[in-house]
Amino acid sequence: MADPGPLLVYGPRSTTYDFGPAHPLTPRRFGPGISLLEALGAVPNLAPEPATDDELDWVHEAGYLEAVKAFSVDPAAPSRAGIGPGDTPAFAGMHEASAAVAGGSLRAMEAILRGEVVHAFHPGGGLHHAMPARASGFCVYDDPALAIARVRRDGLRVLYVDLDVHHGDGVQAIHLDDPGVLTLSIHETGRYLFPGTGGVNELGEGMAAGTAVNVPLEPGTGERPWLAAVRALVPELAAAFGPDVVVSQHGADGHAWDPLAHLNLTTTAMGEAARLVDAVAHRHAAGRWLATGGGGYDVYRVVPRTWSLVWLAGAHRDVPAATSADWRTRWATEAARYGQTPLPATFDDPPNAGEPVDAAQDAAERRSTATVALVRRAVVPRLLREARDRGWWDPLGAAPAGRPADVEPPVATTGMPTILPVVDAATWDKLVLAGGVLAPADPGAGHALIAAGLRDGLRATLAVSGTSVVGAALSRPVDGTSRADMLGLGVAAGWRRQGLAGRLLAAHVEGPPAGVDELAAELSVADRDPRDPLDGRLRRDIARRLFEAAGFTVRSADAGLRTADPAAIVAVRAGT
Ligand SMILES: [Zn+2]
Repeated sequence: MADPGPLLVYGPRSTTYDFGPAHPLTPRRFGPGISLLEALGAVPNLAPEPATDDELDWVHEAGYLEAVKAFSVDPAAPSRAGIGPGDTPAFAGMHEASAAVAGGSLRAMEAILRGEVVHAFHPGGGLHHAMPARASGFCVYDDPALAIARVRRDGLRVLYVDLDVHHGDGVQAIHLDDPGVLTLSIHETGRYLFPGTGGVNELGEGMAAGTAVNVPLEPGTGERPWLAAVRALVPELAAAFGPDVVVSQHGADGHAWDPLAHLNLTTTAMGEAARLVDAVAHRHAAGRWLATGGGGYDVYRVVPRTWSLVWLAGAHRDVPAATSADWRTRWATEAARYGQTPLPATFDDPPNAGEPVDAAQDAAERRSTATVALVRRAVVPRLLREARDRGWWDPLGAAPAGRPADVEPPVATTGMPTILPVVDAATWDKLVLAGGVLAPADPGAGHALIAAGLRDGLRATLAVSGTSVVGAALSRPVDGTSRADMLGLGVAAGWRRQGLAGRLLAAHVEGPPAGVDELAAELSVADRDPRDPLDGRLRRDIARRLFEAAGFTVRSADAGLRTADPAAIVAVRAGT
């Protein structure tokens, strides 16, 4: 049977979210948007109805709901709670219309959680700027944050991927101190664009340190650095974090033709990003994926194709060669009225949307590429970066079938585990990796990754109980130097607080391989157990004492890394 595609959320209430004819977030987008989806065979099959007040209360304050309801009956009331003339004006019925957007995303998520569908797409959703007590940036109720809150009520973990050109500030703020929600936003830098936030140093606090990730790109940046950020960070963060559900926001306003922002993206890149999110959901979250729309103000040429590409990704279908000729004919006159012609004949765009990359774009892209590298260094565990860059591991590859792994490690009972100072590949193959020792979150993938590393210069010191690896210290010589870098140091949750990490490190620094006379470790927010996190500051203090006790000198990391993670440290042990 053909894949019916994602549950498609759209109905009569979708077009009631309407700030008026002069507002950029216009319900006119649903006309060409839904009809292009229908031309692909998509059928809207979930009509949004308003979420209840109890549901909206999960992320919004009661006084704010009262304010929205008051504007709903009296749109002329004086401005408050972010509602009034400007970005988010009042309109009659705005509570019901806004609650219906929230309800669409909530019902879609419930269908996913019940297992009725694996994927759902809500093009009218993605109102990611709404705050607990304030409307912002065309957004009244925060439907992605509510869908995430619904998942959290079931105790499941969420990866949120925000591809809108604007920082996903509301979703980030609402879930900022929840270590069970990882938000990733890739956007135009707030130095030039609303809402002004989303810097590389917004990483989350306390137990949730490392669960907010932001990639601010320079104005003028095109698809290559943007896709580089998506391709690197989405699969690597998913592998490290281990989500149960993926929620994504596919604003189309990063497109080169969008009138409100300054990135130079293409529908081609947006489609590839959607397919990558789909692949990540299947590899890391049992397929559970809610996609939403978002911004997008070129509503004839760009928004419909972007929505179609997201839907096609969720339907696991190839991109057709051409957009429907009937669709182009049907919307040509209306598109011309708004200066958005001609309607493109293809879903994908030519490279760089058909424009040459000039010197200014090239300079912007160099800065953006450096930002992507910096963010990856700060938030992706070193072991995963090294493993991917060296070809030990593919975060989207099939789950390894070989050696089983213990998701729940054996509980520490009597006696300490045995320390194996140096382990070869043959020994490793007989062992099982416990969960939570090291990234990735899936210990089966971790076992395969380390097996590949051991054939490529990785040095492993292990703590073993029975056949179960409950702690590990890993390093590898840096090519062309006499230094080795620590790639990971970890102990499974049930085996912590008894000095095991210190014993592992002490054993690891003994007898380094020939030619290595210095061992270095760089520690950032990436170095954490995402399932059993410690307060970020406490974790850093423990690491500092641990490395100093093993003869390392600990200092602040270089200024570059500290722009993202001010508390990042480097530990160096010379003369081993
Ligand atoms: Zn899929």
